[in-house]
Amino acid sequence: MSDPVLRLENVRKSFGDNVVLRDVSLDVAAGECVVLIGASGSGKSTLLRCVNLLERVDDGVVRLDGEDITDPRVDADRVRARIGIVFQAYNLFPHLSVLDNVTLAPILVHKVAAEQARSEALAMLDRVGLAAKAAARPDSLSGGQQQRVAIARALVNRPRLMLLDEVTSALDPELVGEVLDLLRELKDDGLTMILNTHEMGFARQVADVVCFLDGGVILEQGRPEQVLGAPAHERTQRFLSRLT
Ligand code: ADP
Ligand code: MG
Repeated sequence: MSDPVLRLENVRKSFGDNVVLRDVSLDVAAGECVVLIGASGSGKSTLLRCVNLLERVDDGVVRLDGEDITDPRVDADRVRARIGIVFQAYNLFPHLSVLDNVTLAPILVHKVAAEQARSEALAMLDRVGLAAKAAARPDSLSGGQQQRVAIARALVNRPRLMLLDEVTSALDPELVGEVLDLLRELKDDGLTMILNTHEMGFARQVADVVCFLDGGVILEQGRPEQVLGAPAHERTQRFLSRLT
């Protein structure tokens, strides 16, 4: 078995007295989709933020392709260049065209030549079904389209790993499907991803592994049919029963 893309080893994170991640260990293999579920405040977003070094772990180790990225000597920008992250609020720059939103980081951060950045961005917009909107301003797009642009913006850097934090939670119900369909396609393309979601139907279809976070630990972890269909822990059962 090859090394995991991502490995968390006994990660701990507190905010003051609030212990948010108590002892989290997790492996994510290449091409795997790991879905994090758990009550609001259970630490799902904090876990993703620790992976992408938006938060610093207090203890434990995060490894990306074997490298300890929590080592303080590691250049966080270099790590973030290998990890794409998309949030609930898509945060597109309103004054830039869709295309310029996607080329911005490649040109400014990764020093890709403008022409190359443009052709790669157009290819990625085509991938998410929005090539025709390249010249449009974000606010002329639907929420679902804007979120697909945000995903294209993250993908254009060819990340080793994608982190998706409740990317459908801000969308009107009728727009959720187009974003979930895209994620399903990206998974089929072999993208490695961790996502937080309340969409249990989607988790059941797409996740290789579902992790239930509770009290700062992964209380239960396994195949979706196991964790969602026949949870072993009473707390997982209670969490799932509250959703329906
Ligand atoms: P989830 O994404 O599962 O809803 P979060 O990771 O956002 O949970 O939050 C977990 C806990 O950490 C919550 O109690 C939240 O208030 C706290 N928390 C998150 N970020 C911060 C922060 N920057 N400063 C202080 N507390 C935070
Ligand atoms: Mg969250």
